[in-house]
Amino acid sequence: MSWRMFHHLPLQELILAENPLSCSCGVRWLQLWAESGRAALGNQSLSCMDNENPVSLTDKEIKDCEVPEVQITYKDLTLKEGDSINLTCLITGTPQATGYWEELSIEPNPVVIKGSESETILQIVNVSSDYNLKNITCRGENEAGFSEDIVQLSVMFPAEIVFLGNVVIRHHHCIPFTVDGNPRPEIKWQLNGSALVLTTYITINYIDDDHHNSTVVHCCLDFNQPTHVNNGNYTLLAWNSLGSDTLSHLEVFMDPPGSFNPEDPILGDKNSTQGGPVETPDEHTFGIFMAVALAVCACIFLSVMLIVLNKCGRHSKFGINRSAVLAQEDDLAMSLQFMNLGSSPLSSAESKLDALKTNFIENPQYFFDTCVHHIKRRDIVLKWELGEGAFGKVFLAECYNLIPEREKMLVAVKALKEVTENARLDFQREAELLTVLQHEHIVKFYGVCTDGEPLIMVFEYMKHGDLNRFLRSHGPDAKILDNGNGQSFGQLNLSQMLQIATQIASGMVYLASLHFVHRDLATRNCLVGHNLVVKIGDFGMSRDIYSTDYYRVGGRTMLPIRWMPPESILYRKFTTESDIWSFGVVLWEIFTYGKQPWYQLSNTEAIECITQGRELERPRTCPSEVYDIMQSCWQREPQQRQNIKEIHCRLQALVKAPPVYLDILG
Ligand code: AMP
Repeated sequence: MSWRMFHHLPLQELILAENPLSCSCGVRWLQLWAESGRAALGNQSLSCMDNENPVSLTDKEIKDCEVPEVQITYKDLTLKEGDSINLTCLITGTPQATGYWEELSIEPNPVVIKGSESETILQIVNVSSDYNLKNITCRGENEAGFSEDIVQLSVMFPAEIVFLGNVVIRHHHCIPFTVDGNPRPEIKWQLNGSALVLTTYITINYIDDDHHNSTVVHCCLDFNQPTHVNNGNYTLLAWNSLGSDTLSHLEVFMDPPGSFNPEDPILGDKNSTQGGPVETPDEHTFGIFMAVALAVCACIFLSVMLIVLNKCGRHSKFGINRSAVLAQEDDLAMSLQFMNLGSSPLSSAESKLDALKTNFIENPQYFFDTCVHHIKRRDIVLKWELGEGAFGKVFLAECYNLIPEREKMLVAVKALKEVTENARLDFQREAELLTVLQHEHIVKFYGVCTDGEPLIMVFEYMKHGDLNRFLRSHGPDAKILDNGNGQSFGQLNLSQMLQIATQIASGMVYLASLHFVHRDLATRNCLVGHNLVVKIGDFGMSRDIYSTDYYRVGGRTMLPIRWMPPESILYRKFTTESDIWSFGVVLWEIFTYGKQPWYQLSNTEAIECITQGRELERPRTCPSEVYDIMQSCWQREPQQRQNIKEIHCRLQALVKAPPVYLDILG
């Protein structure tokens, strides 16, 4: 009964009964398996027959019966392609073992040039790089069992670029490439013939680096939000001590936006000698004079208009009649492009007017008494694109002379893509609104730049971008990437989630105190800065990549229905209370690491669920104390929803003493 019969069998239990074993070398393997723990004899009292007497197998000493010893000897396992090598395998032990080489299906096939019981020699001629990291195994077997020795060759060969592909979107934009070589090749990239500088936005990452089995390395040249600035001819250089390889590839990430090149200082740069008119000091003074004169005229005109309209005695709720409002419809239609006012830039004039009525006309002081800070175009130097919103692109920029303490600082600038007269007016209105909104949890607005095009709004730079993306990349599904900016939070914990929620609640308390209705509160509209500071950062509609969060109705209106309470869905009623409902959904987003509410449902199914009173389920990582808050936001009757001040207090208390929460499933 040889060990060979059982060695490969996935046995759970083997019962040996009645048939007596003989105390020979042939049962030594049973003793060895029991000794090594490979098999437990349990309560089987196995015995073997020794001169016709049964003796306990465990106690029986079986002499001259041990597993063989195997050793591969060699001169040097490091070779060059084309070299030859002889590997000698020595097998010792009693009883005498048989030695053999395990089969290798690698070209060129090795041959056994000498085979005897105690020694076998394997010869590999004209060795290829395919031998790298492959096990070459020699085995020796006898009645007691087997043993083996394994070696791996290291076959040196020159660096080679096996593959260079077109850009694909993985976590980031990735130019995929594969290199091979032993020693492992070093790599370098060039853009248009000059060394490509790797930054936090351009990195080389290994993917699927199966270095245990092969010398092939799959990589990505990753770009975080590339723009046309990154277009060009990319050359990959790979080299090692034996040779080098190079391949080039033209990559176009984005069409250049015509005259607006984010690499250049914008028109009117101090040192600029081309690319547009440069103001002379006289022209500048004259420009300022004209701008001030026009602004004063516009203000007087608009104020008079409002007074006149109010005095007309027509019976609109807001002291302004609908036809008067409608007369301004075109003029006002674009205003939501820059203003929160709850509706989308794509929404119908009707809903824009609603929004306008509630915010613009109800609170005209927001728009006429404020002094918007103007920043000189030459003080802004764009660096690269951060994202895209409905009204245009958002860039990271350096801004000079913004605050007295610092010569220059990083800011985020939003550039208006349209420059119609209406768009300019709306731009001015949003700027005035933003100038009024000042709170530690509302993104800071520094001012505008209107001398020339594009029209620009300047905001504080929030280095971790929008909260939805941040949550997704700090949740269980994301490979946590420290974007190289020195702060990696890992997977967010309960206390951090509570901190995020409390900060948004604080911003909402402020907006509610101004009777300002946001209408589109969602994590995509919040921004994350240094040290997990979170601010409400967007008062317009989010970028195209979040368009699935909106539901298109009646052609052009886009509604964030998944964040809306029944009364907003059914009657388009937006109030501070409907913002509270949305805040509850924001809490849910935070505790699901950025999942889309009702992600399993279509828009129409989601509308049905919300209007029928179904609630989002408690996220797995959410303590009941927090889910209670969510539910207090989702009361069907707007008046029954807890007010935002109380919610803020409850969250503050939870931040101070986070509930003990056991994630049993996790
Ligand atoms: P928005 O047009 O406001 O929707 O912005 C589009 C994208 O630009 C956002 O999702 C952010 O990723 C980025 N962004 C906007 N404002 C800022 C900012 N102040 N700091 C950093 N990134 C920003």
